[in-house]
Amino acid sequence: MDWTPGGLSSDVEDRRGSSGGGGFGGGGLGIVGIVFLLVISLITGRNYIGSYLAGGGHVATSSGDRPAVESPAEDRSAQLVSFVLDDVQKTWEQLLPEQTKQPYRHARLVLFRDYTQSGCGVAQSQTGPFYCPADEKVYIDLGFWDELRRIGGSTADFAQAYVVAHELGHHVQNILGIERQMRQLSARNPGQQNALSVRLELQADCLAGVWGHSAAQRGIVHEADVQDGLSAAAAVGDDHIQKMSRGAVSPESFTHGTSAQRQSWFMKGFQQGDISACNTFQNGVNDSF
Ligand SMILES: [Zn+2]
Repeated sequence: MDWTPGGLSSDVEDRRGSSGGGGFGGGGLGIVGIVFLLVISLITGRNYIGSYLAGGGHVATSSGDRPAVESPAEDRSAQLVSFVLDDVQKTWEQLLPEQTKQPYRHARLVLFRDYTQSGCGVAQSQTGPFYCPADEKVYIDLGFWDELRRIGGSTADFAQAYVVAHELGHHVQNILGIERQMRQLSARNPGQQNALSVRLELQADCLAGVWGHSAAQRGIVHEADVQDGLSAAAAVGDDHIQKMSRGAVSPESFTHGTSAQRQSWFMKGFQQGDISACNTFQNGVNDSF
């Protein structure tokens, strides 16, 4: 993938520093730390949580073995995520009106560590990257790449790009009103909730592919990169994650689709480069793909 590190986009909100922790008194202290302080406060009768917040949140970190200061690798990743954010949004600015007659509006991307406040509740690293329709922001803790590597996915540049493009696919679904329709449909048919979620997720994969098509046409993405994207898509397939975590697979609990489905919908978008290729809702909810 061809790109040059070049600072952070104006659409990036960097909350990784200790002063920008998004209303939680700064980064550093993980949820484990907060719970620890709470327990200590209850046992001793002293308000350690209050003194933590009053002190600006600068209590020694207890959130694992990640360094408090960003590493060169993390810095590079922040710039890559920022580059992809800008490129994907520029692409949709052109494609969305062309293909759907709808104008595109920019989403923002929040970089955080451990946890931060989002329009959809507290964002936690453990949840993985996500898009919040309420504030139209993508939330990413760059520590997710370690997790992706742990479950066998590629963390090459295009693999990271696929994840960002997938989240912005959810933003496109939000602009087009698809996300809202799905939520209403889900509320009326609780039994279909997971099946509907799979369709929404596979569509976001396909929309990531539509961006990939444009990036390939412009010479940013090359044939060899696609494998990295597909590897990431396979790693985050429901069947793969379930096999990794509990050894067995239960398709009725799938919310994102299998590795094969995720790869195939990404490729559909990548090959056709058109949003019309991404109709994951065409057949009945119970039909296979
Ligand atoms: Zn998603």
